[in-house]
Amino acid sequence: MAEILVLGGGVSGISAAYHARQAGREAVIFEARARYGGLLDHFHKEGYRFDNAVHFAFSKNEAYSEVLKKADLLTHRPEPYNYEQGRWLKHPVQNNLFPLPVEEKVEAIKGFIERPAQTEDPDYRQWLYEQFGKVIADRFPVRYTDKYWTVPPEKLSTIWIGNRLYRPSLDEVLYGAMTDSTPQTYYLPEMFYPRRGGFRAILDQLVKGLDLRTGKEAVRIDPSRRFVECRDGTREYYEYLISSVPLPEMGEMVEGAPEAVKEAASGLWATSIALVSIGLKVPEAGDHLWFYVYDRGILPARVHAPYRKSPDNVPEGCSSLQFETYFSRYKPLELSEETLVDHVAGAAEKMGLLDRTDIAVTDCRILPYANVVFERGMSAKRRVVLDFLTEQGILPVGRFGEWDYLWSDQSYLSGKKVENLPCML
Ligand SMILES: Cc1cc2nc3c(=O)[nH]c(=O)nc-3n(C[C@H](O)[C@H](O)[C@H](O)COP(=O)(O)OP(=O)(O)OC[C@H]3O[C@@H](n4cnc5c(N)ncnc54)[C@H](O)[C@@H]3O)c2cc1C
Repeated sequence: MAEILVLGGGVSGISAAYHARQAGREAVIFEARARYGGLLDHFHKEGYRFDNAVHFAFSKNEAYSEVLKKADLLTHRPEPYNYEQGRWLKHPVQNNLFPLPVEEKVEAIKGFIERPAQTEDPDYRQWLYEQFGKVIADRFPVRYTDKYWTVPPEKLSTIWIGNRLYRPSLDEVLYGAMTDSTPQTYYLPEMFYPRRGGFRAILDQLVKGLDLRTGKEAVRIDPSRRFVECRDGTREYYEYLISSVPLPEMGEMVEGAPEAVKEAASGLWATSIALVSIGLKVPEAGDHLWFYVYDRGILPARVHAPYRKSPDNVPEGCSSLQFETYFSRYKPLELSEETLVDHVAGAAEKMGLLDRTDIAVTDCRILPYANVVFERGMSAKRRVVLDFLTEQGILPVGRFGEWDYLWSDQSYLSGKKVENLPCML
C-alpha cells in the first residue's frame, strides 16, 4: 500500500514525489520505461549523447530557479535562426526580413501595414493575419504550423500563444528589413543547459532517495477500490494517486469512466516526433544552436546542435545535430524511419550543415507524445476528463496529465501541487 502513488517518472512525477517526501510523506513512483526522466531523458550512441529533442532550462519561478541554481549549468544566449529557400534569417522572421530580395520585402511590409484589425476570438490563421499581415503570415508561420502542429492554422485556437510569438511594431519590421543589426527580441534573455550529463542531470538532485520503480506500466486504475494494476500483473493500493499519464489514455484506463468521458478523452490528440540524430566526426556542424525550417520539401521543422548545448554531448573534436519531424493522426509520417534518416542527411547537406562522408552515427526514434494540440474546442473536452479525474480522487500533473503546453519548469510546478493534498496540509 502506497500512501502516495505517482504514475510517471518524468519531471512532474519526480517533483510530486520529491515534494511529498519533503513534507515527510511516503511516495512511490511507477515509471513504465526502464529509465526516469520522460521527455527530459536522453540516449547514447557510440559516445554521442542526444536529448529527447531540443531542451534548454529557463524559469521565472523562484522554486524552480532554486533547483537550477543547484545544478552546474552553462549559459546560452538564445539566437535562433530560420532557414528558408537557401537563406538564413534571424529570429523572429517578422522583424528580420533583411536577407530577402527588395521586392519581397516591400510586399511583406505592405502586407504588415494593411493587416486586418484585431477581432475577438480569432482562429490561429486569422490571428496570424491580424498580427503580421497575410504576406509574412502565409510565407512563414502558416507554413511552419503545417510542419509543427501538423494541421492548418484555422484548426487551432490561440490560447497557447502567450509570449511565444513576437509581435513587432512597424518600426521594428522596417528596421529589420533594412539592416541585420537588429536587437534580440526572443522572449528569453538567456537559457541554461547542464555542463555534464545532458538535460536530465537537472533532475539528479531531486531523484536522490526517492522510491522510484522502473518497468512499472500502469494499465488499469480502480478508483473505488483504490488500486493501480500494472502490465506485469501486480497491484498497488494507494491512499492518494497522482498521474502524469497522458490524458487521452485515462478514458480507457480508469475503471467506470462514463462514455462521455471516454469520448472526450479520445478526442484529445498530440503531435509525435520522428527524431533523427546525427553524430559527426568533425568539430563543426552548421553555425547555429538551433533553427526552424520552412521549406515544405524538407520534412524536419526544427533542428538543433547538441554539441553546442554542451561539449560533453559528443566525443572530443566531434559535433552533432538533431532533427525534429512532426506527425499526428492528421498528418502521418511520410517516410519509413530508415528513409527519413536518408532524407534528413540529404536535406542537411543541401542546407550546408554537413558532408555525408563525415557522419559517424545516425539514429531515428519516435517520441509518441510531443505537443498537446490546441484544436478549437479542445479545452471543453479536456475539462470533461479533468473533472472526472478530480471526482475520482486522481490528481493529474504534468504536460500530458494536465494536457497543456507546459515547459519543464511548469511541469515541475504542476507536480508540486501535491502539496495541496489533504494529507499534506
Ligand atoms: C520537442 C520538445 C521540446 C521541448 N523543449 C523544452 C525546453 O527547451 N525547455 C523546457 O523547459 N521544456 C521543454 N519541453 C517541455 C518538457 O519536455 C516537458 O514540460 C516535460 O518534460 C514534461 O514532463 P512530464 O513529467 O509532465 O511528462 P513526461 O516527461 O512525458 O513524463 C511522463 C512519464 O510518465 C511515464 N508514463 C506514461 N504512461 C505511463 C503509465 N501508464 N505508467 C507508468 N508510467 C507512465 C512516461 O514513460 C514518462 O516517463 C519540450 C517538449 C518537447 C516535446
